[in-house]
Amino acid sequence: MAMILKDTVRTSDSDFSYQCHSCNKCCHGKEIQVNPYETMRLSSHLKITTTQFRHHYLKDQFLKHKKNSNACIFLGENGCTVHKDRPQVCRLYPLGRFRRDTGDEVFTELFPHPESKGVYGDSAKVKDYLKTQKVGSYLKAEKSYLKLIQKMAIAALHDKSTSKSETAFFKSEVKTIRYADWVLDPDPVIEKYCEWKTIEFPLKTAQKLKIHLEALNSWANGEWNPVIDNY
Ligand code: SF4
Repeated sequence: MAMILKDTVRTSDSDFSYQCHSCNKCCHGKEIQVNPYETMRLSSHLKITTTQFRHHYLKDQFLKHKKNSNACIFLGENGCTVHKDRPQVCRLYPLGRFRRDTGDEVFTELFPHPESKGVYGDSAKVKDYLKTQKVGSYLKAEKSYLKLIQKMAIAALHDKSTSKSETAFFKSEVKTIRYADWVLDPDPVIEKYCEWKTIEFPLKTAQKLKIHLEALNSWANGEWNPVIDNY
C-alpha cells in the first residue's frame, strides 16, 4: 500500500509536534525501502550479515510483511523489535521528507491510520522532532551514498574503472557479487576490501560505513575492484 500524504508542506522551522502512544498502527500497510546504512544497522542488530539480512527480511529492497498480514516483519507484540536501529522513515513518521529540485529540504505529513492514537500538535518545531528521533547519522549516510553513487555512475559511464575486470566478471561462472549489490549489500565488499588492505573486518556500524564508502570510492577512482581485488 502506498503512503498517502497530506497536502501540507513544512520546513525544519515549521511548528510541529507528535506524541506516539504505541498503538503500532503505523507499522501496518507501509512499503519501507531500506538503504545500505539501514541494512548495516539492522543486520548488526540481528547479528547476521548484510547478505543474510537481505535474503531473510527484504523483498526488492523493501522490508517484508508478516505472513498473511500487512504488518511489518519486525512488529512484535510489544512494538518494534528493532527499535534502536529502525529505519529512517520509521523515525520520521508521521513526517515524510523530500528534496525539491532547488535542493531545499521539505517535510509533509502522512495520513494516519484511522485507529491511530498518535497526538499531533504545534508545541515545537520540525527540527526538534528530528532531533528526538536521532536521524542525524541516517541523513549523513544518505548524503554520502548519494554523492558516491553519482560518482560511480560517472566512473561506469566513462569506463574509468577497470572495464577489463568487469568484462571478466560478467563472463565468469562464479558471480560472487553483482554490481548493484556493491552498494546494497555492503558486507561482501567490505570483506574483500579489508582483505586487500590487510585490515580487520570492522564490527561497529560506523566503521563499516566508513570502510564501505572508502571501498566504493576506490572502485570509482579505478584503484580497486571488489571482483578482482588483487590486481
Ligand atoms: S521497522 Fe519497526 S518501526 Fe518500522 S515499520 Fe517495522 S516494526 Fe514499525
